[in-house]
Amino acid sequence: MAEFSEDLPRKHQDLILGATGDGVYGLDCEGRTTFTNPAAARLTGYSAQEMIGKGQHDLIHHSHADGSHFPKVECPIYAAFKDGNVHHVSDEVFWRKDGSSFPVEYVSTPMFDDGVLVGAVVSFRDITERKHAEQALRESEQRYRTIFNATHDAMFLISAEDGAILDANIEACRMLGYSHEVLTTLSGIDLHPHEIPKLHSIFSDLRRTGKIKSDQLSCRASDGELIPALLSATITEVNGRACILLLAQDRRKEVKAARQARKLQADLHHVSRLSSMGEIASGLAHELNQPLTAVMNYVQAAKRIMDSGSAEQRRSISEYLGKAAAQTDRAAKIISGLRKFIEKNEADRSKENINDIVEEATKLVLPGGSTQDIELVLNFSNQLQLILVNKIQVQQVVVNLVRNAVEALGETNAAVLTITTADAADHSIMIAVGDNGPGIDDGQLHTLFEPFVTTKSDGMGVGLSICRTIVEDHGGQIEAEQNAAAGMTFHFTLPLNPVQDAPGTQ
Ligand code: ADP
Repeated sequence: MAEFSEDLPRKHQDLILGATGDGVYGLDCEGRTTFTNPAAARLTGYSAQEMIGKGQHDLIHHSHADGSHFPKVECPIYAAFKDGNVHHVSDEVFWRKDGSSFPVEYVSTPMFDDGVLVGAVVSFRDITERKHAEQALRESEQRYRTIFNATHDAMFLISAEDGAILDANIEACRMLGYSHEVLTTLSGIDLHPHEIPKLHSIFSDLRRTGKIKSDQLSCRASDGELIPALLSATITEVNGRACILLLAQDRRKEVKAARQARKLQADLHHVSRLSSMGEIASGLAHELNQPLTAVMNYVQAAKRIMDSGSAEQRRSISEYLGKAAAQTDRAAKIISGLRKFIEKNEADRSKENINDIVEEATKLVLPGGSTQDIELVLNFSNQLQLILVNKIQVQQVVVNLVRNAVEALGETNAAVLTITTADAADHSIMIAVGDNGPGIDDGQLHTLFEPFVTTKSDGMGVGLSICRTIVEDHGGQIEAEQNAAAGMTFHFTLPLNPVQDAPGTQ
């Protein structure tokens, strides 16, 4: 063999060839086998005697993997002793004596004797295992890709080192309106240029904990739309590289539905306030009558004096007009209270004094306070902190409760309506509206807050259900109980520090 040193004894050469796991055989310039090692015999099933002197191509290399004929002239092994170059091949098969084949990798190296090309030496190995492993890897990659692309949510593989997007699934491309080619040239920052500090803080949490879920970020699409998303990210290792596997769930539909639900709720509250207004209008008409009559009297008195009064009397005109102005102001305040109450009102919250809210609401139902039929008792705590609420909505709760109580007290002798405000447990404020009316059957107590539950012939049964939505929206609770002596008390709580809606859902 040409590769062995001239000095290496023949016996040593045989030992080396016998020890190697690769098959090795030599060919002369006609392609006939000149020698083989034991591994070549083991791998092909032909003994050395069966191979020596035979055309090796006809014996073990005659056909392609699909069984089609492999012409000798195209054989890279034979090419070695024709063109004098080394040929390395790993996509062909060799055929065993029993007719089966195996994938092979071989190197065919030309042999020279005194500069004259005398044949080639071929070293080959069975790569069945390697092909299986490659196939398994391909299948696994295929499976991963299928799952990656079949998920309904956008998925990204991001470098944990520099935030580069290494891979993205079909849904990610669809959601953001980028081709896969473009998306994989971007980085995480390109998708959140409008909220970099938030991005940094979320990803520093991720580095600390290895896993996060957040609905605080929105992704910017190629057309500039900000898409609210629920992100779930996990740090993982892919091919020895620290990566972030990021799942982004498109929340556009959810956010739109929440917005619509809030709008519907606000509309419902508004309609309910309009219907309350109808019921309290007669009380208000009576209340407005007083200042308007007073204005009329003062103005008429002033006119009389101007027409025929003495100089002395004329000096009191200014006083009468002042009083008329004060009464006009009172009437205007009553009207403006009502107008504010029925205004369309969005979800604005502000720090308010709960006693003022309750008092204003009570005035809408009982403008003059206690009446001939009902004694109004206000038990207000003056120790209460300001509270963050939607003023109009809380007034609506109080109006509903006070109106119900006044209606319940319709036939009651010595009727008393008691309104209480007080500190309550868990940093909240409690408001109670109690009456000594007829109360309600115990069986109805549990369904009172359900919509359309009413005992009134002209009732809609939505007042208490709206009260509950408003109170729960503020993070509080509302309950009704029968009083031990007579009537009912409704109380509700409002937390001093309500949890606000998460950003992005507004
Ligand atoms: P509506 O007033 O249209 O019936 P609500 O939801 O405000 O609707 O009230 C539901 C029912 O609760 C009323 O029909 C009434 O039977 C009962 N209710 C509410 N407040 C009182 C109360 N203070 N005393 C007795 N029953 C009450």
